[in-house]
Amino acid sequence: MSGWQALLARNAPAPAPAFGGFPRYNFVGGHNDPEAVPVDELARTAERVIREQGRLLATYNLDAGALGHLGLRSFVADKLRMQRGIPATAEDVLITSGSLQGLDLVNALLLEPGDTVLVEQLTYGGMLTRLERAGVRVVGVPLDDEGLRTDALETICRDLQTKGVRPKYLYTVPTVQNPTGTVLPVERRRALVDLADRYGFLLFEDECYADLLWEGSWPPALAGFDTEAPDIHIGSFSKSLAPALRLGYIHAPPELLARLVALKTDGGTPAIEQMIVADYFDRCFEPHVKALKERLARKAGVLMEALDREFGTAAAFTAPKGGIFLWVRLPDVVDTSALAGPALAEGVAFNPGAEWSTDRDVARSCLRLCYALPPEDVLREGVAKLAEVCHRETGVPALGANRRRGEAS
Ligand code: PMP
Repeated sequence: MSGWQALLARNAPAPAPAFGGFPRYNFVGGHNDPEAVPVDELARTAERVIREQGRLLATYNLDAGALGHLGLRSFVADKLRMQRGIPATAEDVLITSGSLQGLDLVNALLLEPGDTVLVEQLTYGGMLTRLERAGVRVVGVPLDDEGLRTDALETICRDLQTKGVRPKYLYTVPTVQNPTGTVLPVERRRALVDLADRYGFLLFEDECYADLLWEGSWPPALAGFDTEAPDIHIGSFSKSLAPALRLGYIHAPPELLARLVALKTDGGTPAIEQMIVADYFDRCFEPHVKALKERLARKAGVLMEALDREFGTAAAFTAPKGGIFLWVRLPDVVDTSALAGPALAEGVAFNPGAEWSTDRDVARSCLRLCYALPPEDVLREGVAKLAEVCHRETGVPALGANRRRGEAS
């Protein structure tokens, strides 16, 4: 049939490019460390849970209702109660197919074209593309070294109120922020919750990386504060275990959760994954996450050392407090969106800052590097290659590789 393109919905996306394999130096996306996947233990667990619970696969939703596997929901509820200060029970948790499904469900429940939402000025690119598609107005809240600036948020809220605009929600990644790796201090969390109460917007808290806080204890989640403003809290197993499993969760007040369940019409999140992860994490969550964090923290150190060596003072960054990303600022002459193509031609892939920002200019010279996937020697090689391309394309770092090698010796 010809002319079928005319039948597409007006907001149909451009076709996705075909997958051409991973680049050699892959710093993009949120992959995990392959060596940290507990392959043997997952295989043993899979065999056992399928033998024990396999007959449940004959039913949609494992005979446990649309919220998901009861054991996995209990695990999540215990973790939210004990580590995040949220008075959760298994009945307050909906298991989702990755936290991306959580984002989609919440957006489907709340957003209409023309609505206004608040987000951190630097935030998850996958959320920004979703908001663009939803046709909403996105207002970026500035950040500093501790995360979201609640003083700036207050000014924005007051301004919006003067214009008669009530934002639907504030989407925030307060604990190990994506992309900056900061952890919002407790006083700012309290201020944020107060602002939500005062200005009547919902808190939409994404804790995708909270399990990967390297040291110290977590400030309570926003949903752990006593507040009138409802808090929707989502999390993921992608970062604590493996993104290909596609498991995440939503915690929300009952009236909201029941509406999110009504929107989840996919027939259930894959069941074998839920059975395996519930069983494995019930027994091994603490030691697994401890070992994973040690590996990731070491890789972050390798990446930062390589950047110092190859870029010198041209690369500015703050050591992340956990997670899998480093947010790097290069001098103003570097437009990282323009650098991405030449870098990829040399096998180096990174996320240009503009795609992770509500204001392209703010992050024009920034880039996000994920250090979880490449082995340590590939991290080092990749940064050297990036410096080489960047020098060739922009003159940064100033004197090229020879000087840096000389300095290091
Ligand atoms: N939220 C944030 C902040 C993320 O960084 C990501 C993935 N990198 C997601 C949600 C989605 O993750 P997943 O669907 O794998 O849980």
